[in-house]
Amino acid sequence: MDLLETLQANRSGNLLVVTGAGVSLASGIPTFRGTDPGAVWANDVLAKGTKAFFERDPKASWLWYLERFGKVLGAQPNAAHHALVTLEQVWEGDFLLVTQNIDGLHRKAGSNCLVEVHGSAQKVRCSRRGCINGEPKGSISIYDPHRFVAAYGEPDYLRALKTEGTLPRCERCNKILRPHILWFDEYYSAHEDYQIERVKSAANNANVILFVGTSFSVGVTEDLVDRAGLLGTPAFAVDPGSVKLPQWIQHVPAQAEVLLPDLVASLTKP
Ligand SMILES: [Zn+2]
Repeated sequence: MDLLETLQANRSGNLLVVTGAGVSLASGIPTFRGTDPGAVWANDVLAKGTKAFFERDPKASWLWYLERFGKVLGAQPNAAHHALVTLEQVWEGDFLLVTQNIDGLHRKAGSNCLVEVHGSAQKVRCSRRGCINGEPKGSISIYDPHRFVAAYGEPDYLRALKTEGTLPRCERCNKILRPHILWFDEYYSAHEDYQIERVKSAANNANVILFVGTSFSVGVTEDLVDRAGLLGTPAFAVDPGSVKLPQWIQHVPAQAEVLLPDLVASLTKP
């Protein structure tokens, strides 16, 4: 069965959708791990996208982060994000959308049953372990980084950081805040907001798994691919390129922002 037929046949079952950087390309967000010149994290990521770097030099870490993510914060959802909102609304069974992207575009588009498994560029938390605003848990530990801007009355927070060295601080304990994103030297268990157990459980119970624009190069996708293989769950990967996939995952060669709106339209046809 192809993707559409499989979705139609499992309409009242559990659907798990997993998205990666490919979903946000049409929103002008460069890939974070690719080898193209626009790849945001390509060169210094392993050294600077780490908790170790933040702890050694929080100001340099914040500068590095803000210089790269200013673009992300201004981006808008595209047709792929909007189609996934509709899919969630019309799906009759359980639906969960898990994204590796930290751009917040699924949330901006209006997805509700959503796990941002690598965190979000729009959020910060206290860097002190055990703080009520910090890790490993506590739903109130998520902040709006615009408060960082507001706190210093400076629209250009990069400039404020550069000239005054002002870093955002926890209102509870005054320790420096950190971006709420999963760094490369951290585990998914670092914060409960990454909801890794919910993701695994959704994979175990899924009737269909749909991967969209994922590179299959990070821990969580590897784990989900393995689960699909072990459980024999029908699984599809929407990607315009030639991705290397295990034989139990069916490749759907298409761009997400083209295929998903068509797919959802076919599903909702009376
Ligand atoms: Zn704190």
